[in-house]
Amino acid sequence: MSQLVQGYEVVIGFETHAQLSTQSKIFSRASVAFGAEPNTQACAVDMALPGTLPVMNIGAVERAIEFGLAINAHIAERSIFARKNYFYPDLPKGYQISQFEIPVVQGGEVSFFVEEGKETVRKTVRLERAHLEEDAGKSLHEDFIGQSGIDLNRAGTPLLEIVTQPDMRSSAEAVAYAKELHKIVTWIGICDGNMQEGSFRCDANVSVRKPGGALGTRREIKNLNSFKFMQQAIDYEVRWQIDQIEDGHAIQQATVLFNPDTGETRAMRTKEDAADYRYFPDPDLPPLVIGRDWVERVKSEMAELPRVMAERFVKDYALPEYDATQLTQSKAVAAYFEATAQACGQAKLASNWIMGEVSRRLNASEMTIEQTPVSAAQLAALIGRISDNTISNNAARQVFEALWTEGGEVDAIIEAKGLKQMNDTGELEKIIDDVLAANPKNVEEFKAGNAKALNGLVGPIMKASKGKANPGQVNALLMKKLG
Ligand code: ADP
Ligand code: MG
Repeated sequence: MSQLVQGYEVVIGFETHAQLSTQSKIFSRASVAFGAEPNTQACAVDMALPGTLPVMNIGAVERAIEFGLAINAHIAERSIFARKNYFYPDLPKGYQISQFEIPVVQGGEVSFFVEEGKETVRKTVRLERAHLEEDAGKSLHEDFIGQSGIDLNRAGTPLLEIVTQPDMRSSAEAVAYAKELHKIVTWIGICDGNMQEGSFRCDANVSVRKPGGALGTRREIKNLNSFKFMQQAIDYEVRWQIDQIEDGHAIQQATVLFNPDTGETRAMRTKEDAADYRYFPDPDLPPLVIGRDWVERVKSEMAELPRVMAERFVKDYALPEYDATQLTQSKAVAAYFEATAQACGQAKLASNWIMGEVSRRLNASEMTIEQTPVSAAQLAALIGRISDNTISNNAARQVFEALWTEGGEVDAIIEAKGLKQMNDTGELEKIIDDVLAANPKNVEEFKAGNAKALNGLVGPIMKASKGKANPGQVNALLMKKLG
């Protein structure tokens, strides 16, 4: 059951532009490297000089195939490039080369976990298509006195536009989808995922409706370039649309921008329909033909996908599905987990520590797993000392803290800090006897049937042992002594 907002169901569909990680442009040999001087990376094709012709970059096609395979889509054997016609100064051809009626990647799905109330549930978003297209140039308004400049470095940069069905039902789901998609494209290496530099840009189409009703009119929030803004923008937009409807106004289809400073979305133009672009097949480019043998070759060269790796973690390490998904959030996290689990032989404990203490520490210091000061071997040694009862969980956290801040060797730290659990029954029995003798009232109450009186005994025992007593053992001995 999806979550309602003031009695309305939220409907969201995403269009994401992922910049493909090729060296050169999609239809020319100019470089796509970021940050060069304006117009130093625009060749005659990118400037649309008369007589130039586009030539398809095979590397861009290959990346589209990899994406299609990663999300279980159909790879079209024959897809078509089309001209999307519009006028803008940063588009000297007067049209953008894109794919319209027959895109290269068709269907497919992306699934992920998302928190819903107190539960964590798995969601699947169906993809409609992913198509190849070129990026436009940029208008520069800052550097010229009273005039604007055009930088065509970005013109012709290869993009994969990934379009979902309107399957998401909350901003949380939308963000979880975007994070999962980001993980997939960076994992397979077709996109560097840099959101600040615009390598991964999301447009969120948002509408609201009464449950069971027809789809409402949508507004499209453009160019969301951080996950935080994504959530804020959608939440604001949903409240705004509901207010409009409640006040008796109809929603107009529009393209809106999110302003991070005010936290508001604002209409920038009414939305064009496909008809406004007068799409037609580009006569300069032949149909894109992808044979089965090409797809098979790409498939055989691809590394293990995150969801396949997660399934393997469930099978090989007997992990819950949730853990397996969390641990495959990046290749580096997965490698760290496997190294730890194999070294200590305790996969579930390794998973708990990595998803718990390790990620907490990394998040707090805004670090990634590649930068962790605690190696997989050190974490495995620590886990080994918990499972052989040398130290308690509490003591283990102290050892972890020491490993993180000062480094060192697990056994040496346990020794130096005197954290070894008291496994010597004789010593422990003596402490217990002393505590029992000093607290006759608690003993009496417990024997009279007040189970809570036991707490008054356990506390002093743990204290007298300086926290080194094994709580399970303390309990067992107490029960024996108190009958
Ligand atoms: P266009 O290309 O004109 O923007 P599409 O039909 O390709 O329109 O849809 C774009 C995106 O909008 C898709 O992700 C789709 O799922 C989503 N979408 C379509 N209708 C709605 C709606 N009523 N509410 C929310 N999202 C929608
Ligand atoms: Mg579209």
